[in-house]
Order: sequence, then structure tokens, then C-alpha cells
Amino acid sequence: MNLYINHPFHYELENLTRLFYPNEKITVIKNSEVFTEPYIKAFRNEKLYVEVKVGEFLDSTYASVTDDTEDERMLCEMLYKILCELTSVTPPWGMITGVRPVKLYRHLKETTTESEADEYFKNKLFVSDEKLKLTKITEKTEKKIIDLSTEESFSLYISIPFCPSRCHYCSFVQSTIERSKHLVEPYVKLLCDELRRAAQIASDLNLRLETVYMGGGTPTSLSAEQLNKILSVVNECFDMSFCREFTVEAGRPDTITPEKLYSLKENKVERISINPQTLNNNVLEAVGRRHTAEQTIEAYELARRIGFKSINTDLIAGLPTDTVDSFKNTLDKIINLNPECVTVHTLSIKRSADLTQNGTSINRDDAVNTAKMLSYANEKLFENDYIPYYLYRQSRMVGNLENTGWSKKGFESLYNIYVMDETHTILGCGAGAVTKLKRFGTTYLERIFNFKYPYEYIDRFNEQLERKQKIYTFYAKY
Ligand code: SF4
Repeated sequence: MNLYINHPFHYELENLTRLFYPNEKITVIKNSEVFTEPYIKAFRNEKLYVEVKVGEFLDSTYASVTDDTEDERMLCEMLYKILCELTSVTPPWGMITGVRPVKLYRHLKETTTESEADEYFKNKLFVSDEKLKLTKITEKTEKKIIDLSTEESFSLYISIPFCPSRCHYCSFVQSTIERSKHLVEPYVKLLCDELRRAAQIASDLNLRLETVYMGGGTPTSLSAEQLNKILSVVNECFDMSFCREFTVEAGRPDTITPEKLYSLKENKVERISINPQTLNNNVLEAVGRRHTAEQTIEAYELARRIGFKSINTDLIAGLPTDTVDSFKNTLDKIINLNPECVTVHTLSIKRSADLTQNGTSINRDDAVNTAKMLSYANEKLFENDYIPYYLYRQSRMVGNLENTGWSKKGFESLYNIYVMDETHTILGCGAGAVTKLKRFGTTYLERIFNFKYPYEYIDRFNEQLERKQKIYTFYAKY
């Protein structure tokens, strides 16, 4: 699809076009006098003008010019309406293409009123009633938790970039534990060193640790002894007296053993994630998850017996070969297990995922079915006393839908909210981790990146430790 423009607003128009044509290459061409079909013309001259020509379809519309911000939004609105008509698709999130609708809603609510924010979502961005309701409840739940954060607050993120095998939809930087066996021990040792340094910095700066999150990858790919080493360093070196949440993403059920769960428990981890993604064994096989639905249930029951009182389960809507009925079946079984949190993701196929490399693409039926799965999940989870507490979107999501974290009252994951909202500083340790330094009460954020791959992390470890010195400089400035 060619997108012809004569102004600087190509970014939003391009994103908007991608909502309707997720698999097509969109080429932005500025100030051309020749127009090759299929095309979109979006011009700003004495009037705003949008024209779309695709096959037999031709439609155009005019509007008055006002100012830059409104002209950009208006061009998007004109294009959105034509593309809805052309494709017979009405995106549930309307014209919102950004990743954080809740943040946008909160900003509107704080700068105008709640009813004006609602009106803007409905009449200017064309967000459906279902998604507006989801946004409003999430915003309220999040807000209470964001307000608990103080100027000294920070969270700690620990990255374990190893997995037992690679799922076909995965786009994370991670290595299979088998192939990286020789790297694991040195990695664990250096990660402990980095944690000690981070703890020293936090103590020097009088920062207050609020939440700890160990994610990946799959942290439970490590042995019980390796987990114990890392978690003991956290407990010994950081001041844990204000810590309100300690999560380990156990992730893949096939990596969970009693020894590892005891190791987590002994190290004061209270919240874990056990992620089935689906309870349909055929779908698990189709996406390269080398575990079964039965293993998920066993791991879940084991965790309960060992005494975990806060368990999250991740599901993905829109997985290849999954159907609406099979998704409903998965969700019903998960609700019967009664976990404290259920996170419902929408499949997002990034360029680096095996699925993309294999030529899998998203078609309109996938989008429609995935939307049905999410609507079912929303309805059922509300019915069963789960409340949405965080919500975000990613690029290349099926149907341009959303990921939502649901929890029973009082079991919201604080870390998830803080990281998504960018409420306070996150100190990141491990390969691929990013330290985000937040100037409290503003939107200002500075990032310090660790090396992505475990071998780089190990080879250039001292360089990374050096970078952590920048945390002192940041706090000295603000
Ligand atoms: S478990 Fe998660 S991080 Fe690991 S390969 Fe699968 S999707 Fe990727």
C-alpha cells in the first residue's frame, strides 16, 4: 500500500493503515505527483484531503485545516472512517495505535474531567464500550497502587535469559539451557556480583526497595541451587524491610520441581507465575511448547501444596490452531483452578519469531476469533471476581487487541503496574535487563542497558558494572 503525504504526520497515518493491513508493506511517499495503486492520499493544503483507492474501491473526504495537532488527528479520523468502510473492520480500540491506552486515559482524566476523557475515547478515538470499560476499571485499580510509590521507591528486575526450548512465537533474547550449559554457572556468579553492586548503590542512595521480579526467559530453567544462590544474595544484600512483593516467573511448567519451589519459598518469594498459555495439548505442540496441559495442573497443585498463596497463570489468545471453543475451555479450566491472577495475552508475532520466519501471518478471521476469545475472557473473569489491574498493547498483535492482567482483589502485581506505568526507578540486573531511572513525579526517564546476550554479559561484565555508576550521577542531579 502506498501512502502519499505532503506533511510531517506520516507516523500515525502509517500505524493506522497497519491496523487494517497488518501483513502489507506500507510505503510512505512524500510530495509525489504520480500515484500508484493501491494507495492512500492524505494531504494538507488549503483543506485536509484523504483519498483511498484499492481495486474497484475509491472514496475521498475533505475537512477544514485548523492546527498541527488537530490536523493530524483529523487526517487519521478521515482515513480511519474510509478504511472501516473499505474493509468492514471496526477495530475495538478505534484509532488508538499506542501501547498504553490506560496512561492516555489517565492523562485525559487528569487534564480534563472523567466524562470528557470518556467522550474523547468514544467520539474522537472511536474506542468500543467494552474497551473503554476495561480501560476505566484498570485505571482506577492501577492508580491506588501507583499512589503508594514514593520518591525513594524502586523495583528490582532480575533477568534469567535461559529457556528449556524456544516457543515458536517467542521474540525474546534467550538461549536454550541445553545449548548454553557452559554459560550458566559463570552467568549466575556474575549476576550475583551485579546484584551486590546494585544493592550497594541502592543503600548509598537511601533508595527503598518495593518489589522484586525475576523474569526471563524461564528462571526455573536454573537448578534449585542456582536459584538459591541468586535469591540469597537478594535477601542478604538488599534492605527488604519495605519490600511488598517478591515474584519469580516460574513460567514453563516442565521446569518446575519441588526442590526449586522450596528454594523459592525459603527465599521469601511469595508470588510465582505458572504459564500454561493454553490447556490444549495440540496447540501446545503446534507452538513448540514442550510441555502438556497435565504438567501445568501438576505444577500448579504442587505449588499450592508447598504453600504459594499468590499464583499467576498466563494465557495467550490467538495461538495458531487454537479455536474460540478451545480457548473458552482453557479459560474455564483455569478459572476452576482459582489462581489469584490470570494474565490474558494476545498473540503478537514479532519479526524475529520462528512463526514469522516460517511465513505465518495474521488474517482477518484470526483477528475476529481472537477478539471473541478476549470478549469471553473479559466477561468470565469479571463474573468470577477478577479485576483488570494492568493493560498494555504491543506491536504486531493479532487484531490489534491487548494484554490484560486480572487479579482477585488485593493480589494485583505491583511490579507489573510500576513497570508499565514507569512510576519509579527499576534497577535491572542480568543480560538484556534495562535500568530505568525515573525522575519522580515527571515523565523524565534515563535508561542504562545491559548487554543482551549471556556471552556478551559475561565477556564484558566490567563494562556493565561501570555503567551502573551513572545511577549515582542521575540521583545527584535530581
Ligand atoms: S518460555 Fe517465554 S521466553 Fe522462553 S521461549 Fe517460550 S516464549 Fe520465549
